[in-house]
Amino acid sequence: MGRFDGRVAVITGAARGIGFGTAQRFAEEGASVAIIDLDEAAASEAAARLTSSAGEVRAIGIGCDVTDAASVDAAFERIVADLGGVHILVNNAGITRDNLLFKMTEQDWDLVMNVHLKGAFLMTKAAQKHFVAQKYGKIVNLSSVSALGNRGQANYSAAKMGVQGFTRTLGIELGPFGINANAVAPGFIATEMTDATAARLGLDVEEFRRLNAENNPVKRVGFPEDIAAAVAFLCSDEASYITGQTLYVDGGAKLVS
Ligand code: NAP
Repeated sequence: MGRFDGRVAVITGAARGIGFGTAQRFAEEGASVAIIDLDEAAASEAAARLTSSAGEVRAIGIGCDVTDAASVDAAFERIVADLGGVHILVNNAGITRDNLLFKMTEQDWDLVMNVHLKGAFLMTKAAQKHFVAQKYGKIVNLSSVSALGNRGQANYSAAKMGVQGFTRTLGIELGPFGINANAVAPGFIATEMTDATAARLGLDVEEFRRLNAENNPVKRVGFPEDIAAAVAFLCSDEASYITGQTLYVDGGAKLVS
């Protein structure tokens, strides 16, 4: 018996990185999984890579831009038609467009706000129709330690703190309908997103990871599996008395910064 047997989990930005690690965790624990990402081929290929020690995994990949309402609605139609419903939503899709404030363009501000905030809004609005009707749903939104402020990330930091306010409000509005909404705020996680930051700073990836490992009490970087474990707990029925919270999963980085 897996914790998510009979459940359908939808994870955005899940063709790789934290999203894929989370999709893999849900698949291993019995869920059917919808992998949403910008590129349909990458999403389908990721869905085909999911494995479970219990046997075959039911998974689909859907090309969808979470900032586009029509694309989001079409994705939910396919999920319900192919997987039979929806019980869990993880708003994970994300981008960075880092720059110091005086060099940050209006377009970089809008892009980051759109993917993290409008994307989570549209996906959650589409999901809650199903969740409210069935009086059951789990939502986890990806925030970040950068919500607390980070040089070169005025746009990303504002969006990620916005995610926390969004999550608290979902907790208030949706709790009476059997729906839990929480956020996970990762510290440094080894993915293509942080590899791209290393490249932008002109640093070797391993050196960048070593420097970031030194910045937290547990003296290692995080991996997608670390975030997947926290997301899975918050989506489990054991966590049904937890809502509107943000859980920092950062090796203690927030404690010492
Ligand atoms: P990642 O490796 O860059 O993966 C993000 C995925 O989201 C990519 O596959 C990307 O597709 C997809 N995506 C971007 N825009 C999208 C859109 N409009 N619609 C659908 N999919 C979209 O990132 P990650 O490191 O796994 O991060 C996942 C989440 O955790 C993000 O919200 C990020 O902000 C957050 N986070 C990460 C870290 C970290 O250290 N890695 C720390 C704190 C928080 P394309 O490749 O096609 O653009």
